[in-house]
Amino acid sequence: MSATAESTMSPATADLYKDYVVPNYGRYPVCLVRGEGSWVWDDRGNKYLDYFPGWGCNLLGHCPPAVVEAVQQQVATLIHVPNSWHTEAQGLWAKMLSERSFGGKAFFCNSGTEANEAAIKLVRLHTPEDRYKIITFTGGFHGRTLGATSATAQPKYHQGLGPLVPGFSYAPFGDLDAVRELIDDETAGIMVEPIQGEGGVRLAPEGFLQGLREIADEHGLLLVFDEVQAGCGRTGDWFAYQTMGVTPDVITLAKSLCGGVAGGAMLTTAEIAPSLRPGMHAATFGGNPLAARAGIATIETIEREGLLERAKQIGKRFEQRLAPLVDELPHVKEFRHCGVMIGIELLVEGAPVVAECMKRGLLINCTQGTVIRLLPAMNLSDAECDEGCEILIEVLRNLAS
Ligand SMILES: *Cc1c(COP(=O)(O)O)cnc(C)c1O
Repeated sequence: MSATAESTMSPATADLYKDYVVPNYGRYPVCLVRGEGSWVWDDRGNKYLDYFPGWGCNLLGHCPPAVVEAVQQQVATLIHVPNSWHTEAQGLWAKMLSERSFGGKAFFCNSGTEANEAAIKLVRLHTPEDRYKIITFTGGFHGRTLGATSATAQPKYHQGLGPLVPGFSYAPFGDLDAVRELIDDETAGIMVEPIQGEGGVRLAPEGFLQGLREIADEHGLLLVFDEVQAGCGRTGDWFAYQTMGVTPDVITLAKSLCGGVAGGAMLTTAEIAPSLRPGMHAATFGGNPLAARAGIATIETIEREGLLERAKQIGKRFEQRLAPLVDELPHVKEFRHCGVMIGIELLVEGAPVVAECMKRGLLINCTQGTVIRLLPAMNLSDAECDEGCEILIEVLRNLAS
């Protein structure tokens, strides 16, 4: 089914990258050409089962038919118009998101980092002018623009970039006392991932988000949930805040929002929304007709096919298959999951596991060095779950010998 990764790629494409593409990514020597559901093919005809489709963007798998059709129709009708005009699609999309969240309003952009920049500006604009500080959390990840990088409490992402944007202070994830200690007269908001993704699939500890909600209310702070990775159905609810049972003032979305098409959004309440007043923020491509139609088709597909429930079921199936490894294998430390957001923490480096799985035709991810991360499609079949888990289990067992 699959040859080793090294032998699969066309040398001509490799040369194009070597000569003309900025080398800021580590890339596998594989050139992907086609995808369908949870399967992708490379330029040598090798087929892979993809448990990390689109880095979490393809929650419906590759090329979901309803999204393909919506975009095909739209692209031939009207590709892009800026936000100086109205389109029906953007308005409808905002309504659909509002009805499935806390009934507020949407600002549209194109990525997660942009959604967080909008949230950072909104926090500063909504609170009195002398308040600008935002508390974020160790192990969090909020994106790569300078504001979002400054909000990301991981020193490895700051190296050589200073001075960072002022006003961010960091508390340990889960530590409410540390948050209280950081608050002063200039604090305006708290920004947190309800489930840390890049940080290793870490769920907020019991009571932590509720505690943040209380602290925010007590001090007049805005509470922002970065749901760029955990939102839009991945947890088995529309939004992670619903799964966790705590409602924020602002949520940020991207990754799977448009079924694999680029798109981002920030949702906030109708009361807070006017603080992002005309002239203070914009995104030229934000909420464009292609993204809007893809976003609508994504929501419709999830509902038509009952996929929120399916995300919970398939997550449980992964748990049944993989959680027993914690007792069986000394180098498997912990299994964590929420819906189809899955982490397996190892006591050894995860990179060899990723490489070996790829050789055997299974695509997975490793984050923070030792956490195997799976963000499978919510419409994965039972058979596809079993097939990939078998490969992963065998690779993890072989590590022991
Ligand atoms: C991926 C991610 C981002 C950044 O999103 P981009 O679309 O790459 O800008 C921000 N926050 C979280 C939680 C993410 O997982």
